[in-house]
Amino acid sequence: MSPILSIQQISKSYGPIQALKDVSFDVPEGCVFGILGPNGSGKTTLLGIVLDVLLANAGSYSWFGGMEHSEARRKIGALLETPNFYHYLSAFNNLEISAAIKQMGMDDRLRVLRQVGLFERKDSKFQTFSLGMKQRLAIGAALLGNPKILVLDEPTNGLDPAGIAEIRDLIRKLNKEGITIIIASHLLDEIEKVCTHVAILKMGRLLLHGPVDEVLHSEDQVEVRATDMEKLQQALQMMSGIKKIKLVDNTLQLTCDTDIQPFQINEFCISKGIVLSHLLLKKKSLETKFMELTNN
Ligand code: ATP
Repeated sequence: MSPILSIQQISKSYGPIQALKDVSFDVPEGCVFGILGPNGSGKTTLLGIVLDVLLANAGSYSWFGGMEHSEARRKIGALLETPNFYHYLSAFNNLEISAAIKQMGMDDRLRVLRQVGLFERKDSKFQTFSLGMKQRLAIGAALLGNPKILVLDEPTNGLDPAGIAEIRDLIRKLNKEGITIIIASHLLDEIEKVCTHVAILKMGRLLLHGPVDEVLHSEDQVEVRATDMEKLQQALQMMSGIKKIKLVDNTLQLTCDTDIQPFQINEFCISKGIVLSHLLLKKKSLETKFMELTNN
C-alpha cells in the first residue's frame, strides 16, 4: 500500500535559522502518526509545509501517492491554531461560520457534532462548554467536509486532565472510523498513548521514525558485580544477547536484547566459574530514552 503522505528531504530556513534539514519519512494510511520533538524542533514548520501554508527551501512531499495538491487539500482537515469561536453563539451556529470560511461542510454540521460527541449540546452557547468540549468543537470544525486525514498541532495544549482524556478518546475513535491522523506534540506521553507511528525531530533533523513500539521500546539494563571485575567483563563479552557493556563505579551496566533474562546472565557467569555479588534489573523509562535521544 502506498503511503498517504510521503515527505522527501524537506529543508526550511528562516534567515539564519535552519528549522528543518533533510527530513524524509512516510505516513502509512490508517495510522495515528505522531511528530514528536521538543519546542522549536520544527514540527509546526513541517505541518505548515505539507499543508501548503509555508514553502520549503528544498525537498518535496506528496499526498495520496501524488494527487494534485489542491485536490488533496480538500481531503485533509487541519487544526493548527484554535479557531476563534463566538462565545455567545451555539456550537451549531459556530460551525456554520467555520463551514462558510472553509466553503464546505455546511450540510455536514450535525454529522460532525455527533462525531465529536457534542450533538446533545449543539444548541448550547460556546461559553458554557468545558475546555475539552471547546477543543472537540475545534476538531469538529476540522472534520467539516468529511476529510480522510486529520492534522492536529499540539491538540491537548492548555487542557486540564479531563480535557486531555476527552481528546485522546476522540482521536482513537476517529482513527477507528478510518481517519488517518497526524499529530505534532512535544509530549512523549501523548504520542505513546495514542499514536501507532512516530517521527522524532530534534533541531530540525529527523532522529528516528517508525512504529511506536519499535522506536520507543524501552531498553532494560542489568547491573552486575563480582569480586574479579576484569574476569567478569571478559566473560560477558562472550555472551550472546548482550549489546553493550559499560563500567560505571565498579559496576558493569549491561544493555541486553529484550529476550535476555537476569537469571540467564547469572547461569552464564556460574558456567564460567564466576559468582555474582550483585545482579539487578533496571527498567529504563521511555521518558529517559526520549531525553537521551533528544538530549533535552
Ligand atoms: P513549538 O512546539 O515551540 O511550536 P516546533 O517544534 O513546532 O516548536 P517550529 O515552530 O517549527 O518548531 O520552529 C522551528 C524553528 O524555527 C525554531 O527555532 C523557531 O524559532 C523558528 N521559527 C519558526 N517560525 C519562524 C518564523 N516565522 N521566523 C523565524 N523563525 C521561525
